[in-house]
Amino acid sequence: MPVVVPALSVPAAGAAFERTTIERRDLRGHDVRIEIAYAGICHSDIHQARAEWGAGLFPMVPGHEIAGVVSEVGPEVTRFAVGDRVGVGCFVDSCRECENCLAGEEQFCSRGMVATYNGKFYDGERTFGGYSTQIVVDEAYTLRIPDGLELDVAAPLLCAGITTYSPLRHYGVGPGSRVAIVGMGGLGHMAVQIAHAMGAEVTVLSQSLSKEADGRRLGADHYFATSDPATFRELRRSFDLVLSTVSADLDLDAYLGLLRLDGSFVFVGLPEQPQTFGVFALVGARRSLAGSNIGGIAETQEMLDFCAEHGIGSVIETIKADEVGDAYDRVVASDVRYRFVIDTTTI
Ligand code: NAP
Ligand code: ZN
Ligand code: ZN
Repeated sequence: MPVVVPALSVPAAGAAFERTTIERRDLRGHDVRIEIAYAGICHSDIHQARAEWGAGLFPMVPGHEIAGVVSEVGPEVTRFAVGDRVGVGCFVDSCRECENCLAGEEQFCSRGMVATYNGKFYDGERTFGGYSTQIVVDEAYTLRIPDGLELDVAAPLLCAGITTYSPLRHYGVGPGSRVAIVGMGGLGHMAVQIAHAMGAEVTVLSQSLSKEADGRRLGADHYFATSDPATFRELRRSFDLVLSTVSADLDLDAYLGLLRLDGSFVFVGLPEQPQTFGVFALVGARRSLAGSNIGGIAETQEMLDFCAEHGIGSVIETIKADEVGDAYDRVVASDVRYRFVIDTTTI
């Protein structure tokens, strides 16, 4: 029999959260049942709960930054045991046989990965996310949270951490790299810490200098305000990589001008509208304009281990279930330092 558990759901696009119950399936052979302790609030949750990326599946239970403890395992589970500290990120299944899945890049599964919420399993069953007290996930899509990382500060690593770690790795960031992080929010504050731990010289490009002290404490070597036009003159041709974590429209020509020869501008933030740029900015210094989407399962485990080894966690504000609506408004107003995490025992 499926288990009925409490959850926070959005009944329709943009509606207020309400308490409800959802069903979690019976354990299959390779499933683990996880008692969720914390769920981070990603800006993508807000985009989807407000149907800003097109029609969503409602009622919706968001949440893809999940940390908790295994409470039961299916008969064929080999990698986890009751009591293990685990995490779940942005997807809970993929086809497992396309070239991208086989390469450990399940986030780019050719059949389409199964999103942790606002999605459907291949058999048509709806997925519901981490704003809940329990979830059932195949062990192949479950991550181990290393000792030394508390569950609350680990939860946001399952999206914000891997989304920034993956492109930093892919573009070969290390000692000697000059990296700029655009936006000091949930993703941005992780990117600063991870790039710093990889040995890069890190610059934050924020709308203002209001979070400069935090940015420097987290590992930024330099901090500039994008509202000051002098910033773009001063930093011209400075960076190997510019990683944008903002969802607002950007003056791409200005940002491309910040790249050195062979530099790359990489989107992880997702502006709703098409963005434009002049091709001359690319051609003039063999620059690249690119995007990146979360990371694969093996790479997510690598990121968690890296964060534990370097003492990196998310900077969080823990909230109760009835504060989620207000927290959404504060994230949209850039009034979060730097990730809201829901104590799911309050749901
Ligand atoms: P967030 O916490 O709201 O951070 C976004 C930051 O963008 C803000 O803190 C702010 O930083 C900056 N910003 C906000 N409004 C701006 C404006 N009008 N102009 C310029 N900068 C602005 O959001 P998040 O959770 O980090 O997510 C950021 C984006 O990444 C969202 O679009 C989300 O959907 C997307 N995302 C993508 C992936 C992926 O795999 N590609 C994964 C997760 C999230 P400052 O105050 O420092 O300027
Ligand atoms: Zn996310
Ligand atoms: Zn696949």
